[in-house]
Amino acid sequence: MMQRAELGKRTGALHSRHLRDVRPDFPALNQQVHGKPLTYLDSAATSLKPRAVIDAVASVYAADCGNIHRAVHTLSERATERYEGARARIARGIGAARPEEVVFTRGATEGINLVAASFLPSIAKPGDEVLLTSWEHHANIVPWQQAAARLGLHLRVARLPIDRAPVAEDVLSHVTDKTCFVAFTELSNVFGVGLPAQEILQALNARGVASLVDGCQGVVHRSVDVSALGADFYVFSGHKLYGPTGIGVLYGRYERLAAMAPYQTGGDMIETVSFEASTFAPPPSRFEAGTPHIAGAIGLAAAFDYLEAHAAEHTLSEALTRDFEDALAAEEGLALLGPRPAHTGIFPFVCPWGHALDIATFLDLEGVAVRVGHHCAQPLMAELGVTSTLRVSLGIYSAPSDLSRFLTALRSVRQRLA
Ligand code: PLP
Repeated sequence: MMQRAELGKRTGALHSRHLRDVRPDFPALNQQVHGKPLTYLDSAATSLKPRAVIDAVASVYAADCGNIHRAVHTLSERATERYEGARARIARGIGAARPEEVVFTRGATEGINLVAASFLPSIAKPGDEVLLTSWEHHANIVPWQQAAARLGLHLRVARLPIDRAPVAEDVLSHVTDKTCFVAFTELSNVFGVGLPAQEILQALNARGVASLVDGCQGVVHRSVDVSALGADFYVFSGHKLYGPTGIGVLYGRYERLAAMAPYQTGGDMIETVSFEASTFAPPPSRFEAGTPHIAGAIGLAAAFDYLEAHAAEHTLSEALTRDFEDALAAEEGLALLGPRPAHTGIFPFVCPWGHALDIATFLDLEGVAVRVGHHCAQPLMAELGVTSTLRVSLGIYSAPSDLSRFLTALRSVRQRLA
């Protein structure tokens, strides 16, 4: 077996080659904040964008600025071709069986709301149960809570452990004969720890229970093949995957989408309209009422291309992830939270010597961007007995220098506050 130090040296060398290739692609890294070089450690909230994505978005507005699906003129045709091309690109990237299984949304939040509004009423009867986990983001709680109240359903919560990685049974033991739907995160945005999604979904499918996976963080840190995964629905946001804000994907198994009522109604989602009645287009158009975020979809496809081209480097960032986790675990006056080691690029922590908000504010003055707050997971914060935590999260551009700058900045903030 390779010794740890030897491994560290090897991955270090590989990592610096990777960073030389990747970091210049992210123009936002090339700036000072409060007179200090930016150390961006908030990629789980939103990732920085590579030049390829910025250029793809700009090129839509600069050259192919037509509305889609609606005209025969050249700009419209070009925009339509690029938009539908983006759908096909993303479908391939996530392993969907066909492009029509990819619905463009504003983001994961809209995807979940869409399923809660358009799918859940078609399968649920009063008294049925919707099962979530205690690790969910508010986006995967509130829409189900609202739908449950409207439809007379019970919301059940599978409490996941906070000291070890969850196993499938932690979720499945809460499935009852009344469970009609299960929605769970693939990877917690608070802990950076994943659930055994495929195993859970296999069991749910065997019992005929419908499911949605919140892939917002999973799609960033794991390679995703939605067909193999087996969920009925899978959602994510483009902006966490090096793509634009305001664009996301709802993947739905085609037969599920085809049986669903529209979410919003209006232009571009109909077959025929009269004042008496309207008929609706097949998926995905049925769920894309109005003019969509054309440039966003095209920018997101560019992010998929970029990540594919840098797939090897993407994998190598795991070495840095281990270095961060080891260094944070060893840092005096810093308590990492959740099941550890997690081996992803998300690290929540508290420092007993200072308030999280103060620490994040002082870190910003040192040019270091970290997250602070409840991370849209108030139920999980309550379980941890805190109102907020700090969180460091990495992207493919993160470098060993980010770790050293962060530790230096944190120690100096500690001296000031403690
Ligand atoms: N789910 C998870 C796990 C997330 O981390 C986030 C964003 O932080 C969301 C859902 C919501 O994503 P958006 O605000 O892009 O819709």
